[in-house]
Amino acid sequence: MKKVAVIGVGTMGNGIAHTFAQNDFTVRLIDLSADTLKRGLETIERNLGRQLDKGQIDADKKSQTLANISTFTSLKEGVEGVDLVVEAATENQGLKLKIFEDLDQFCDSKTILASNTSSIPITQLAGVTQRPDKVIGMHFMNPVPVMVLVEIIRGYNTSDEVASTIESVAKQLGKTPVVVNDYPGFIANRILMPMINEAIESLYHGVADVMAIDTVMKLGMAHPMGPLQLADFIGLDVCLSILNVMHDGFKNPKYAACPLLVNMVRAGKLGVKSGEGFYDYSTTRKAEVVASQFSK
Ligand code: NAD
Repeated sequence: MKKVAVIGVGTMGNGIAHTFAQNDFTVRLIDLSADTLKRGLETIERNLGRQLDKGQIDADKKSQTLANISTFTSLKEGVEGVDLVVEAATENQGLKLKIFEDLDQFCDSKTILASNTSSIPITQLAGVTQRPDKVIGMHFMNPVPVMVLVEIIRGYNTSDEVASTIESVAKQLGKTPVVVNDYPGFIANRILMPMINEAIESLYHGVADVMAIDTVMKLGMAHPMGPLQLADFIGLDVCLSILNVMHDGFKNPKYAACPLLVNMVRAGKLGVKSGEGFYDYSTTRKAEVVASQFSK
């Protein structure tokens, strides 16, 4: 397995393409426009430059990695002859179902179709294809070149052979694969999102302020970042949407999103990407506490 197509060159797609290319895979990178692809490649080049400055790679590795990547705006052309597709397009159920339907049509019958989705059921994506045994979740963590975990999600019909092939691909990328089954939130988000939601509930009920909550979790639990700051980095809209998927999927009120989270998303306070969430990032990515809006 040496030829991979990556769909989407956003936050995750560029990191996934970078990681495969750096590990000697041929990468066919697909997105909607040439402009988006150009920006994605610039990000990859910048990140490789950082690795070079830190002495993690040499100049040859940097140019070889870039040479391993080609770009396409046509899905049909992009997936020609690939062994594996890793879909990392926008988190939207309708969009992903359409992409999987098209992939099933355009790809060789042996090609494995993986999704990096955070919350859409793999079994549902597999259901629109004629190859449900070859559909699997490959959930990378952000930032992909740095984070070691790949959560591998077996859909209801994923075959043993495909699961073990994907485990071995993750190892070839220098990652540690962990295989889990296909239930809402998988494992990473099923455990992370209730913790983030509980941190927001604690703030909402006035138990403590932003800094206090994050400091308790950083110093008390040795987390590198507090849950409120982590939520800002993930995106509060993304957190809300994953909680909603778990709430709908399990029909259990323990996954109901805190009203403060819902309100903040409605107000456009999405965290780092909008410049403000629980912290203010308007002048720098370094977090400054936003105190006023949380007083009861
Ligand atoms: P993003 O919005 O940064 O990027 C999505 C990219 O997909 C965009 O460049 C968009 O142009 C492209 N795209 C949309 N429709 C397309 C199509 N039909 N064909 C080709 N490209 C298309 O999103 P992201 O944060 O990179 O998330 C991508 C996936 O990764 C989602 O499923 C998300 O749940 C998952 N994920 C995200 C994170 C994270 O921290 N952001 C972590 C783990 C998993």
